[in-house]
Amino acid sequence: MINKLEKLSKVLNESYSEKSLLNSLGTFFEKNFDVEKFFIDINNKTYLESPIIESDGIKYPIFKHRKSIGYLCFTGGNNELKKFIKIAAPFISLKVQNIILSEKMQKNINFHETMKNIAKIIETQYELNYIIPIIGEMIDKFFEDYLLYIFLTNENNTENKLAWPVACKDTKILEIIKNFNSKVFTEDKKTLALPLKSEGKEVGILVAKSTADEITSKDEDYLTQLAGQIATTINRANVYVEILKHATLDALTGFYNRRQLEERIKQEISNARRQKAPLCGIMTDIDFFKGVNDTYGHAVGDLVLKTVAKIIRSQLREYDIAGRYGGEEFSILLPFTKIKEAQMVAERLRKTIEEKAIDISKVNPDCGIKEIKVTLSLGIYEMKESDNDEDLLKKADKALYQAKNTGRNKVVVQYE
Ligand code: GH3
Ligand code: MG
Ligand code: MG
Repeated sequence: MINKLEKLSKVLNESYSEKSLLNSLGTFFEKNFDVEKFFIDINNKTYLESPIIESDGIKYPIFKHRKSIGYLCFTGGNNELKKFIKIAAPFISLKVQNIILSEKMQKNINFHETMKNIAKIIETQYELNYIIPIIGEMIDKFFEDYLLYIFLTNENNTENKLAWPVACKDTKILEIIKNFNSKVFTEDKKTLALPLKSEGKEVGILVAKSTADEITSKDEDYLTQLAGQIATTINRANVYVEILKHATLDALTGFYNRRQLEERIKQEISNARRQKAPLCGIMTDIDFFKGVNDTYGHAVGDLVLKTVAKIIRSQLREYDIAGRYGGEEFSILLPFTKIKEAQMVAERLRKTIEEKAIDISKVNPDCGIKEIKVTLSLGIYEMKESDNDEDLLKKADKALYQAKNTGRNKVVVQYE
């Protein structure tokens, strides 16, 4: 007996998760007591406090503060088992409680990490169709047993549209969304729909559907808190977009934003016309940038954008103008510059970027890769007298399109 207790103590010491504990205890009882099947029934039900003898085995209660919190369930087993389990049950019980507690603590830590990360997104991103998938992936990772859906309310408050993941074929959920007024928890306790509400405004709906057990009240609490955080993030993104409409600089790169860029283009064009000076426009687009995000994560994507922006700035003269035209597209204006010169600037830029090893180890230490490189495609055009205001970037963009279609990482000139 002592010998077996020692063995048990070793098994208990070596288990760190519920799964590994179950596995090693199963093997232990099978080897030493001819048990065919072993599991621990511990599911927040009420349990009797004395053993239950069944024709093919026994259920032995385990206790916490003198109250039974579950059963050790055996199928098969020899005569020695009953005696042994009487002594061993309290030890197993303690271990089970410890593991549950530490798994709970770990879940709590992960939860706060998720909340923090959702709040952090807004530091660099404000486009909803960019933010929502990031949030979606974060909460998916946290709730492995649930299918999660984020719906966004449209501007006129008339409709909730699915924003994460790409599709929802669950007709029950679609029905809930269609008639949604306030929190819905279905009778089977497996589907929970929560309003995403921030500052009194409804911005969307978060739906969780369990694919296994009922949604526990603890998870309901987690989901409610996450819904709050997500709503705040969405709301702030909306507010940011409003503010940025009036701002002049792009938050990530420090370049002119699209709106301001358009203003500056108008000014430069009229300057050039007035002074009869040459003016060139360059449109650039990072090659295969989506792949960078997909492989290394959006934070690395952001770092690449910043780095490319920095290189562009470093290659320009003080009175050249650079702006963020869109996601990973930059526009450059070169006043007092003819096409030949612009071509040289563009080529130098292309080469510098091609050669630059970007250190991503601080932003993504886990991916195993320290540095990456990206390339840039560029299109150039020199303004003609007959052009209208839109032609400068439009024609540079046409050249950029050519660069993309003929191999990327190159400079193409549009002559007319
Ligand atoms: P191509 O060589 O044809 O240009 O391929 P691509 O993958 O660069 O082209 P695509 O236009 O399909 O992808 C652009 C990507 O840029 C998609 C989008 O996720 C990403 N993106 C846009 N804005 C941002 C941003 O602010 N940060 C990050 N990290 N990614 C962004
Ligand atoms: Mg692009
Ligand atoms: Mg691109």
